[in-house]
Amino acid sequence: MDFHCHLDLYPGAREVYREAARRNEFTWLVTTSPKAFAATSRALEPLPSVLITPGLHPEIAHERAAELDLLLEQIAGVKAVGEVGLDGSPRFKAHYEVQRKIFGAVIARSAELGGRTLSIHSRRAVRDVLAEFERHPNFGTAVMHWFSGSTAELKAAAAHGCWFSIGPAMFDSASGRALAAAMPRDRVVPESDGPFAKVAGKPIMPWNTFRTAEDLASLWGISPDEAAGTLARNGQALLHLMGRR
Ligand code: MN
Repeated sequence: MDFHCHLDLYPGAREVYREAARRNEFTWLVTTSPKAFAATSRALEPLPSVLITPGLHPEIAHERAAELDLLLEQIAGVKAVGEVGLDGSPRFKAHYEVQRKIFGAVIARSAELGGRTLSIHSRRAVRDVLAEFERHPNFGTAVMHWFSGSTAELKAAAAHGCWFSIGPAMFDSASGRALAAAMPRDRVVPESDGPFAKVAGKPIMPWNTFRTAEDLASLWGISPDEAAGTLARNGQALLHLMGRR
């Protein structure tokens, strides 16, 4: 399973799509803009094991702000949303206000529609992301993707009921490993974040989940097979919450 993948952005996306559908029980294809969601949904034949969702990535919020109304329309027709969120890192901080406007509208819309499951980017912005959840407590379920906040922020997110999708790239740093170790074990699911996330210079593929199980196994002090079993059970539980099981 892969709960966060930019499958439409791999070279040879169609083949990666077919291969992911063949090898994975579930793949969540998050898009970065409402127009990309529309184009990807047209270009790829619908397959039962692949979920394609509308999003508006905070790194391009300022370029795609005019697509917000389209996104809010699209959210009415889907059960899950992503990639959305906030990015307060120096490179994107200049556009933080437009990011907040978009993310705030997405969370409000999700609550208004009875709740959605969202794949969320929260780099250097965890507090503000959680504040939006507090403003609209019925927004649904948050899956924090590649979480990189502090340990205190991780605790706060876990207390808000957040899930966490993590991939092999997270284990490349000591801080990433420490966060992964501190996550609630029953709310961790695998992600690739490919083709952006790489290991040894190569994009992680949607079916590379076992690496994450191996890395978690050493943190948890259990065997890789046991860790893979935990990830599989968690994945099923999250799919159930998403209304897919
Ligand atoms: Mn991503």
